[in-house]
Amino acid sequence: MARTIQPDCRQCRREGCKLFLKGERCTSKKCAMERRPVIPGQHGNSKRRVAFSEYGTQLREKQKVKRMYGVLEKQFRGYYEDACRMKGVTGENMLSILERRLDNVVYRMGIASSRKQARQVVNHGLITVNGRRVNIASYIVKAGDIVAIKENKQNNEFFKSLRGSKVVMPKWVEFDTNNFSGKVVALPVREDIDADIKEQLIVELYSR
Ligand code: SF4
Repeated sequence: MARTIQPDCRQCRREGCKLFLKGERCTSKKCAMERRPVIPGQHGNSKRRVAFSEYGTQLREKQKVKRMYGVLEKQFRGYYEDACRMKGVTGENMLSILERRLDNVVYRMGIASSRKQARQVVNHGLITVNGRRVNIASYIVKAGDIVAIKENKQNNEFFKSLRGSKVVMPKWVEFDTNNFSGKVVALPVREDIDADIKEQLIVELYSR
């Protein structure tokens, strides 16, 4: 499975914002964006690398969202093309598809502290959807799907701290930390996605 190998914090510094790729570290003082919020590289502080053309602005926005969700170019473009074929606003449709990826759902439900960790949980076969094991991180969930931690894995050391804990999650998903089972209540809409994303710039880039 292809994946980004660039260091996480370097990706945040490149995009100039927190992408929350490292779980708890992202909200601590150790976060690289708190300690050294400059573009990586020898000339990171120079004005030339801070000012972008129209194309550059669109490209950076696309790279930011791709990195946020841990998706590579080919798959990301595929989501854009799927969004174009759907009814409604293309940018919003694309974000909705990204949110519905199983690794993102596991992250949103609080089972994992970052999307990267969630992807690992899914890849290791610890998650079921409607009672069947799904180990594909890009699996797209539907409204009404039941997402749960596999029964024989619930006593796994990794999930110990999750049991009975309070998790803040968006209103389109719910997850019971006592029985390790949750539900996709509805499909996510634009208002449910609180990240600072200008999806219109991505649509403009791809429709050039
Ligand atoms: Fe980004 Fe998290 Fe690293 Fe901070 S700690 S720079 S938010 S990956």
